[in-house]
Amino acid sequence: MLTIGGLTPFTTIDYPGKLAAVVFCQGCPWRCRYCHNRQLLESGTAGVIEWKMVLALLEQRRGLLDGVVFSGGEPTLQPGLPQALAEVRQMGFLTGLHTAGPLPERLAACLPLLDWVGMDLKAPFDCYDTITAVPGSGKAAEHSAELVRQSGLPHQFRTTVDLSLQAEGRLENLQQLVAGWGEPLVLQELQTVTAPAAHPAVALVS
Ligand code: SF4
Repeated sequence: MLTIGGLTPFTTIDYPGKLAAVVFCQGCPWRCRYCHNRQLLESGTAGVIEWKMVLALLEQRRGLLDGVVFSGGEPTLQPGLPQALAEVRQMGFLTGLHTAGPLPERLAACLPLLDWVGMDLKAPFDCYDTITAVPGSGKAAEHSAELVRQSGLPHQFRTTVDLSLQAEGRLENLQQLVAGWGEPLVLQELQTVTAPAAHPAVALVS
């Protein structure tokens, strides 16, 4: 179903205003220079937690958690994501997604199953490649951002402020772009690269 690289059983900061668990999905098609989840990038890496264990944890947390956030890595890379979202919703939890938007068609299939989306914007769309190292990534992200905006879902656009984004007025241009949509852009501090063994993404199910 899903290849899961880690699970945080309880968080107050990953789904605004909600108590949530976070499922870290394995694999991402991009290679951002500042990525702090590098252990989650390779899609061929085996998962560390089975989906049925996540469902068992959620069963125990009914009434204690508001929702489940699918993060990564890039969750939309996994074909099993829509089914997983549907299962979580059937259990009565809200569903949240962290995405960078590399796969707009897959994102579109997930949107009807979501209650909230947090989308990372890397830069103005015409200079995405300098961050993601993948040609064409800006077009995909632009399409995904449009889908999120048109979805009517509660959502948040945010960006990680690294040196490349601060160069050549890119951050200001991105802020102007998002302001033009009538939306705030949440700035995130660059996180120090963390050793896989210490990363919260590999927190064990309790
Ligand atoms: S999109 Fe996210 S998970 Fe993928 S490489 Fe960039 S920062 Fe890492």
